Amino acid sequence: VQEDFLKYARLPAMTKDRCRVDIGCNIEFIEEIPSAVLHGAEGIGLYRTEFIYINRDRLPTEEEHFAHYRQAVGIEGLAWSTIRTFDLGGDKFTSDPKLAKEMNPQLGLRAIRFCLKEVEQFKVQLRAIIRAGAFGKLRVMFPMVSGIEEIHEAKRIFDIVKGDLIEEHVPIGRDIEIGVMIEVPSAGIVAEELAKEVDFFSIGTNDLIQYVLAIDRINERVAYLYEPLHPAVLRLIAQITAAGHRNGIRVAMCGEMAGEPLYALILLGLELDELSMNPLGIPRMKKIIQNATLQESRELLNKVLAFNSATEIRDYVEHYMRRRF
Ligand code: PEP
Ligand code: MG
Repeated sequence: VQEDFLKYARLPAMTKDRCRVDIGCNIEFIEEIPSAVLHGAEGIGLYRTEFIYINRDRLPTEEEHFAHYRQAVGIEGLAWSTIRTFDLGGDKFTSDPKLAKEMNPQLGLRAIRFCLKEVEQFKVQLRAIIRAGAFGKLRVMFPMVSGIEEIHEAKRIFDIVKGDLIEEHVPIGRDIEIGVMIEVPSAGIVAEELAKEVDFFSIGTNDLIQYVLAIDRINERVAYLYEPLHPAVLRLIAQITAAGHRNGIRVAMCGEMAGEPLYALILLGLELDELSMNPLGIPRMKKIIQNATLQESRELLNKVLAFNSATEIRDYVEHYMRRRF
């Protein structure tokens, strides 16, 4: 890393008018953590745990899960660790025969849907996560939740697992926060109700954009239509953050959009509490935020929210950012 960039990495992402955004890192392997700390991560915003399984052909045991999560919590320099439960299916496959080939895997039995079907498997992972919570500030989040029933069910299973561990006198995290990824449009639309059930939201823009715009995120033929600055996407994100804040919960963003410097001011204007990104992108993002103001970000966002085409928004934002940074 360049020395110049490390200077920004070490400081918080605080605007000139003193609005601070927490900066998390997205990781797939615990081995990435030291580099993330070096690049200025303040917490882990997204640990994609399914990679524990993707690289092998056998389901991890509770102890194997635990060995990973234990190393992802209570790390010096990181104030929180957000562990996402398995997000299998969609674009993330293993040789698990229960993950059958589907015509439309992005719309199939993936993520929380799969976990709620394979409850015993889900419980093994939750046991390990809750145990790891004894060692530091831990947040757990569920991917691909589409409505209130799934969050009720996931929380019910979480409580059963926690109760079992307490009965067994196993040390656990007592104040683990429970969150939901907002990455299915229906979850965004009923965010007001979901916010009453959880401690935080984390907006997964990779999937949210895919589903809002009906663009398969891995199909290159339609990649030109994949547009984070589409007015429908921006308006929905604004509604989600507002619903979260009205209900007093934190709203993070952990999709790729959160780490894109071009969107930095738009994200500030959207009032996200945390941006979680690829660790290598952190110093640049911090530098922009440190040189921006919340006020100009709000003005920029309000300006572009009035446009009705993605092209107009993109042109305006690109021009603004080029002139300003
Ligand atoms: C997302 O969908 O934005 C996200 C962060 O999760 P993943 O990319 O792992 O689906
Ligand atoms: Mg996702």
